[in-house]
Amino acid sequence: MRDDTTPTHCPYCALQCGMNLRRVPAGAAGTGRGAVPVEVVERTDFPVNRGALCGKGRTAPELLSSRVRLTGPLIRSHATGRLAPATWEEALRATAEGLARSRTDHGPDAVGVFGGGGLTNEKAYTLGKFARVVLGTSQIDYNGRFCMSSAAAAHNRAFGLDRGLPFPLEDIPRTGCVVLVGSNLAETMPPALRYLTELRENGGRLIVVDPRRTRTAEQADLHLAPRPGTDLALALGMLHLAVAEGRTDEEFIASRTSGWPEARAAAMAHWPEWVERITGVGVPRLREAVAMFCDAPTGMVLTARGPEQQSKGTDTVGAWINLCLATGRAGRPLSGYGCLTGQGNGQGGREHGQKADQLPGYRSLEDPAARAHVARVWGVAPDSLPGPGRSAYELLDALGGPVRSLLLMGSNPVVSAPRAAHVEERLRSLDFLAVADVVLSETAALADVVLPVTQWAEETGTTTSLEGRVLLRRRALTAPPGVRSDLEVLHGLAELLGHEKGFPTDPEEVFEELRRATAGGPADYSGITYRRIAEEGGVFWPCPEPVGDAARREAGGAVHPGTPRLFLDGFATPDGRARFVPVAHRPAAEEPDAEYPVLLTTGRVVAQYQSGAQTRRVAELNKAAPGPFVEMHPRLAEALRVAEGETVAVVSRRGRAEGPARVTAAIRADTVFMPFHWPGSGRANTVTNPALDPTSRMPEFKVCAVRVEAVREE
Ligand code: SF4
Repeated sequence: MRDDTTPTHCPYCALQCGMNLRRVPAGAAGTGRGAVPVEVVERTDFPVNRGALCGKGRTAPELLSSRVRLTGPLIRSHATGRLAPATWEEALRATAEGLARSRTDHGPDAVGVFGGGGLTNEKAYTLGKFARVVLGTSQIDYNGRFCMSSAAAAHNRAFGLDRGLPFPLEDIPRTGCVVLVGSNLAETMPPALRYLTELRENGGRLIVVDPRRTRTAEQADLHLAPRPGTDLALALGMLHLAVAEGRTDEEFIASRTSGWPEARAAAMAHWPEWVERITGVGVPRLREAVAMFCDAPTGMVLTARGPEQQSKGTDTVGAWINLCLATGRAGRPLSGYGCLTGQGNGQGGREHGQKADQLPGYRSLEDPAARAHVARVWGVAPDSLPGPGRSAYELLDALGGPVRSLLLMGSNPVVSAPRAAHVEERLRSLDFLAVADVVLSETAALADVVLPVTQWAEETGTTTSLEGRVLLRRRALTAPPGVRSDLEVLHGLAELLGHEKGFPTDPEEVFEELRRATAGGPADYSGITYRRIAEEGGVFWPCPEPVGDAARREAGGAVHPGTPRLFLDGFATPDGRARFVPVAHRPAAEEPDAEYPVLLTTGRVVAQYQSGAQTRRVAELNKAAPGPFVEMHPRLAEALRVAEGETVAVVSRRGRAEGPARVTAAIRADTVFMPFHWPGSGRANTVTNPALDPTSRMPEFKVCAVRVEAVREE
């Protein structure tokens, strides 16, 4: 490796593609702001992407030197009402005072903390500790709640442990059949598409379940296009047929599971003909899917946001897990259920304590033993730790009410939260808002204090990919003088709030504490070190290091190898058996009616990422995907007398979003699709429904009732 080249990982999605960053020689990059200081060069030693990157990863360095990047703190002036430059001392003091004031006046739970699934493990860990130890608040959650919380809940319920994929991606091409539910890999993580291509080249079969015929669905042997919000019924229909046709694995059910009679009865109550009526997928297609899945010697079901972002997301994922269990496709080589996590550290972000109900190591905040363990590591009394707080949407909804001030890191809920106009209004009603970000996002623009922070290439830290592989992102260049790392921000705030110790700024020091905090927990990182990650290219958790093994590791002796594949010897439940959970179909929280007769579903496009705060500021990406659109079937377009490119409004009970019509037969005629990356009049989340799943508290982004109107010039 050349001295000027640093191996690292992409700052965006959960695939965490490997890349090398090479310094651009002085002069070659130009001078001043706008001169890109590093370039991405191929890194082929990381097995997940083998050098391949999508446009987002390839262009990621552009934001490092972007003219729109924040390079100094901002404080809102009382005189003008505008954000104005300030020193770091002033900004940190104003933030500490703003948070402390709410705590003094209204109690600790009047202070909220909102994190992000893009924060490194070290930041997520420190943010959770900061909230609970320094602020003493229970009111912390993060945007990952909007990402994979239903799959996590279903995973825990069935298997006793949640790791997005319980097997490495490299297993996918070697299985017999993949059912991909509500995932458009071709747009969300393009390098991962090769796993499906190789699957088919190896003779495996691919079934894609999606109301749209996406670029991913075009690769499938069988595409099922259910009505949005009916994936649960579809899974029940497939399980019903598997039972009726004698395709279940009774030996596996008897030896490795519990709860089958109840789950079986629930599935048998959902007749295929009824499923056809609910989902719009014909019984012959259902039979074909069941035969394809069950005839293969091994099989996997992979879900993403489609089935998960529903007010019944946990039960929907549970229904797919039941199908896996009933057919013996779990806890065996090359078989199982997995969730394709979306955000860069969506997996690690939910393991280390920024989630409302969790402590580091995926420990439960309600478990006395877990509280005692983490309190010991943190040097505080267990009963000083607050209990579980509000989930992400509930926390945002409480702003300006019981929650008076907010510290927000690595998230842009003005664009990404459901019922976004309401969330924006709640943010505006706060007594105090501080936002740490790299650009003036739509949420940062509302803040009283804006704290400009370092970007991925300017700091070291770990992330945990969708496979549960802990990875090291390395610092490749020095940050501009006006910015600080999130860890430095939390250190400074902790100091001002009376905690001079316990909040180090060195990421490796934080990780060493994280190792101790996670030891013995479900997500055990105690055997993982920066050195091991660097040497091995990544380590899968759980990777425990029993007392005494540190010396052996230092001496070069054998250590725990990490766990690429979970559940092969038993599930993580008390009796080692996977749990069937009986589930039943229920309608979406909002079904079409005469006033709102069409279904809206939302998603992503390849050139943008999440709220677009970063990617909308990268010229190449912005050119490729400059704004929202409304995808609709020709029959709907004809009924509305709308032509391709004409502006339409999508209107729900919560508001309206506009965009040009994109007319295509690749979507169901009863459904329109909008990507959600943009603010303003095209903000899709103005329209979406915050109805929550009762278990995961996931909002129903993926289905709501709307009216579509042509917007005509007067
Ligand atoms: Fe980055 Fe994801 Fe694109 Fe890979 S697929 S380059 S991790 S955004």
